[in-house]
Amino acid sequence: MVRPNPITHTMAQLEERTENNTPGRYYVDSSCIDCDLCRDNAPSFFRRQDDLGVSVVHRQPVTMEEVRLCEEALHECPTESIGNDGV
Ligand code: SF4
Repeated sequence: MVRPNPITHTMAQLEERTENNTPGRYYVDSSCIDCDLCRDNAPSFFRRQDDLGVSVVHRQPVTMEEVRLCEEALHECPTESIGNDGV
């Protein structure tokens, strides 16, 4: 896996979506620096993929409260590695 430069990376790219993200609108791309913030703040939706050393979405949000938690994680991610493709 080729990782984008986390310094110059500006927003999650759907084509860089990493393996094992659960299908749905939220995903983590390959620029993740494994900082643990999303997993710490929203463990119901994000977990570590150990073999790649990145986070992935393991459950998509359903309720408005769950969407809020995922949106918070998206906005708090220091490398903008969490995406929402709006589907
Ligand atoms: S907050 Fe961003 S950089 Fe940190 S683990 Fe989650 S997706 Fe990766």
